[in-house]
Amino acid sequence: MTPEQFRQCGHQAIDWVADYLANPQRYPVLARVQPGELTDALPAHGPEQGEPPECLLADFERLILPAVTHWNHPGFMAFFANSGSAPGILGELLASALNGNGMLWKSCPAIVELEQVTLRWLRQWTGLPEDWFGQIFDTASVGSMHALAAAREAADPNARAKGTASDLVVYTSEQAHSSIEKGAIAIGIGQERVHKVPVDAEFRLRPDALREMIDRDLAAGLRPCAVAATVGTTATTSVDPVPAIAEICRARNIWLHVDAAYAGSAAVAEEFRWALAGCEHADSMVTNPHKWMLTPVDCSVFYTRRPDVLRRAFSLVPDYLATADDPRAVNLMDYGVALGRRFRALKLWFVMRSYGREGIAAMIREQIRIVQALAAKIDAHPRFERTAPTPFSTVCFRYQGTDDENRQIQERVNETGEFFISGTKLHGRFTLRLAIGNMATAQSHVDRVWELIQAEAAKLAR
Ligand code: PLP
Repeated sequence: MTPEQFRQCGHQAIDWVADYLANPQRYPVLARVQPGELTDALPAHGPEQGEPPECLLADFERLILPAVTHWNHPGFMAFFANSGSAPGILGELLASALNGNGMLWKSCPAIVELEQVTLRWLRQWTGLPEDWFGQIFDTASVGSMHALAAAREAADPNARAKGTASDLVVYTSEQAHSSIEKGAIAIGIGQERVHKVPVDAEFRLRPDALREMIDRDLAAGLRPCAVAATVGTTATTSVDPVPAIAEICRARNIWLHVDAAYAGSAAVAEEFRWALAGCEHADSMVTNPHKWMLTPVDCSVFYTRRPDVLRRAFSLVPDYLATADDPRAVNLMDYGVALGRRFRALKLWFVMRSYGREGIAAMIREQIRIVQALAAKIDAHPRFERTAPTPFSTVCFRYQGTDDENRQIQERVNETGEFFISGTKLHGRFTLRLAIGNMATAQSHVDRVWELIQAEAAKLAR
């Protein structure tokens, strides 16, 4: 691609993006393809000769787009909906142009320092301690795995050299994200040593049960290593009682990790700061700007107040990466598994500057308002019931019929192409789950999806 061709195609690509962001509804939100359809439409072998740039853009539209599920669509209400906003997209574009790698301070000072600055701003915006260390990973799953590795280092400094001991235990609630178990699997603690703590009626970890489980394990000669609390659980967005959990961890010298992947962003709005109460006592925490802070995937923030422990767990410097020791020149490769590091902070910086704290808070506030208004309508409906409290912008509810009937409602709503809603199981029963997080989702979209859901339920009742 010559510079001139790049300019031309680049302008076309930006035009395409601008049109897309203005009207993603022109596509059905869920891809309407069968498994393997895209694979079959693409050549079995890569091209021997380079192809002209026009072909790439044309095939993007013709072949790729039909197989895309549109997370940037206002009707996307599944999982945790999010937005890849225009400023974030520009940041991502420029980051790829620079193609920097922030493994060392020297290998790209801007990557390292902008990461520190944006994460300091985010700590201020969410009321977290000023002196925490932060870094950006791709996902919360990877961040939580690093938290568990640091916890292991704190509990058993031999682990780094000798491998994981079989008596270390991690505690997390029955409602925690699977990434906690996967992290324990990855670092050799093993799934059986992740002890699941029961939850209360609002799906929050029960501190009394946690205390009992830890004390029982201690009496049995096991070594409690970490507790992972959740602020905004995946199914219901429940908030574990972090202050009480922190107290238990402090008294027994156990690492406290907080998974605030979804709800951490809510604290950008002052009235939702309560969600992070007690987190100042945590040893580590993850939160995902790529979930609820307008930043394109991937951007997950990892904080720890004990970077020295994380560094002890991971620092390993081969000769070719050794640089002069200057305490202000942080080498982020010392704080995790990966050597290479993308310039993710650039898109976060663009987003934070473009919207400001108030802009982001206003979006979060409005989405919570819309969903809570829907929750009230669900409560008032004679044939629907909410299946969990609704602290943020995600509501779990069901038609008072069978699981199959609720699944039918979900499928029919999703077949319209206007919306993508997901489901989950609570107390063993299927429940509908609607999560608002895309910046383009407005009251009108939520009114419309609720209308469709009621209409489908009415058909079942006939
Ligand atoms: N933690 C919670 C509470 C989640 O809901 C999710 C995903 O939805 C994750 C962690 C995993 O996030 P990631 O995809 O960034 O690994």
